Amino acid sequence: MSAAKTKIEWADVAHSVVRGCSRASDGCAECWSARMDGSRLKGQSFTDTSGQLHTMGDLVKIFPGQPKLGGKGQPLKAREPNRYAFNGQVYLDPAALQAAIDLPRVIDGKTGYSVFWNHRSDTAHEQLPDWVIDAQVAVWLLRHDLRMLVLTKRAGRMQRHLSELMSLTPNARFRRCWDALGEAGIDRHAVPFGRLAQSCYDGIAPWWMGVSAENQESYDERIPELRATPAAGHFASLEPMLGPIELRGPMLSWYIIGAEAGPNARPADLDWVRSVRDQVLAARDGRSMPLPGDPHLFVKQLDVCEECEGRGYVAPWGDGIPCPECGGYEIAGNVRKGNPPLDGRSWAEIPGTP
Ligand code: SF4
Repeated sequence: MSAAKTKIEWADVAHSVVRGCSRASDGCAECWSARMDGSRLKGQSFTDTSGQLHTMGDLVKIFPGQPKLGGKGQPLKAREPNRYAFNGQVYLDPAALQAAIDLPRVIDGKTGYSVFWNHRSDTAHEQLPDWVIDAQVAVWLLRHDLRMLVLTKRAGRMQRHLSELMSLTPNARFRRCWDALGEAGIDRHAVPFGRLAQSCYDGIAPWWMGVSAENQESYDERIPELRATPAAGHFASLEPMLGPIELRGPMLSWYIIGAEAGPNARPADLDWVRSVRDQVLAARDGRSMPLPGDPHLFVKQLDVCEECEGRGYVAPWGDGIPCPECGGYEIAGNVRKGNPPLDGRSWAEIPGTP
């Protein structure tokens, strides 16, 4: 198993060690990972820590789309797309955990590259025992040469777990991480013991911690817990953006915005995106280029309805669809790549990079 370079624009590599998930809030309703695991990747297999073999398809429920009736005398229209949801089974994949320890030091000539951790699941899922989180922390400490970008919707559990772990003595923290690697079935003879011990003694929390928030309710619930979580940096993924969001409280280091992808994608309104952009700019006194310590902005995965003047932005996956607001414009097909212009300017800021 090797490092997977990712099409996700704000990371260099994506790597998942947890398999399966379940819905946490409305932002999960059209979960891209469940769709992938239930369709293209359904035959991909993995072995859990007890040695049991699973396929990705085992972790997903499929709700078949219905045929749509045509008008009188007309043939049936195309079927609605299938819907997919995780069924709540969640496992640690020890082979993927080992692969994370062995990630290359350099990719495409770049050291210190970024890794979107568990891009297909949730690191702090409630079904996972505590030692599974400890085993992942052990990897983040072992690979502190990389920027681990951890995104969760279970911000409360993450905050409690990491705060407690980081409050331990270095010895106790090391013991927890070391034991967790053993519990996960990792061959500890090959693990650089000294590097993990040094990270524990240094008391570092080198990972970047983020939460997904799709609307004001999830933002207000998760962001205070995120801010209280030990990390080198804090960020929010406002994706899929399903409503306006006021960035209450102190600003985070980084805001990523995107509309929903997939055949059942729900539209994001451009004014919601503009509002977050304006709040970020106001927090940095209007500076168009962020200084270190300023909030950074990354806008992706949007297309513009040219007919209704910027209402009804959506990012479908696959074929184009009519604008859900006015029906008069064909929203582009695959717009997952790149940073689309927002009022004539693209936003692709990543903290700590020029
Ligand atoms: S938390 Fe993430 S991976 Fe899990 S169901 Fe929700 S969107 Fe999917």
